[in-house]
Amino acid sequence: MNILFMGPPGAGKGTQAEAIVNEFGIPHVSTGDAFRLAIKQGTPVGLKAKEYIDQGLLVPDDVTVGIVRERLQQSDCEKGFLLDGFPRTLSQAEALEELLGEMNRKLTHVINLKVDRNKLLARLTGRRICKSCGSTYHVIFNPPKQEGVCDKCGGELYQRSDDNEESVGTRLDEYINKTAPLLQFYESKGLLTEIDGEQEIDTVTKKIVSLLRG
Ligand code: ADP
Ligand code: AMP
Repeated sequence: MNILFMGPPGAGKGTQAEAIVNEFGIPHVSTGDAFRLAIKQGTPVGLKAKEYIDQGLLVPDDVTVGIVRERLQQSDCEKGFLLDGFPRTLSQAEALEELLGEMNRKLTHVINLKVDRNKLLARLTGRRICKSCGSTYHVIFNPPKQEGVCDKCGGELYQRSDDNEESVGTRLDEYINKTAPLLQFYESKGLLTEIDGEQEIDTVTKKIVSLLRG
């Protein structure tokens, strides 16, 4: 199972990925998570990525493709993977085709979580993430039992520095201009399934699981 989650920032890709990788035992490959880790570790990739992420802009393709290439070649991806947040440009999609081709692999499912733009600002500004295990919450739509504390591991919750109104506006524009055109690319390959991402979190999970079980 080589799965790709698409959808605008805030559509629920990370939230659904947590459930799906648990269910199917495949790794979650998120370029956003990889960049945030690199920033925390102060690596050259992290320093470069931070300039763009802070402004809500896409990180240049060469930097991004490099980290995905390294990640997909690790042994835990042999049994399959769930890509989230990559590709985000046509050139990244072409690089992914080439990379998978070299590995004799293909995407098996592309799932687009559809959420109207007017819902995304509230989702993103209310998002909270666990510092320890990375679980995602929302102050209103998916609150932890105790404010600021992760239900799963007791870790401290934080707000991403790019989840502010100004950056969200730029990120949504980047999505419309550079990433949304990829839906057509995958549609034409017969790989795309659209799922209504405005339903309850558990309902969306059930629909994805049933699609993947085929
Ligand atoms: P993405 O990874 O696509 O950017 P997230 O999974 O981080 O999106 O979700 C963004 C925010 O919206 C999070 O705070 C999350 O808790 C919340 N969220 C996710 N799915 C839903 C849903 N179906 N209904 C309401 N809120 C949701
Ligand atoms: P995400 O965690 O997916 O919301 O990504 C956070 C930020 O990381 C984005 O706003 C971009 O700046 C950067 N980023 C993540 N994935 C990519 C990608 N595939 N291409 C370019 N930039 C990316």
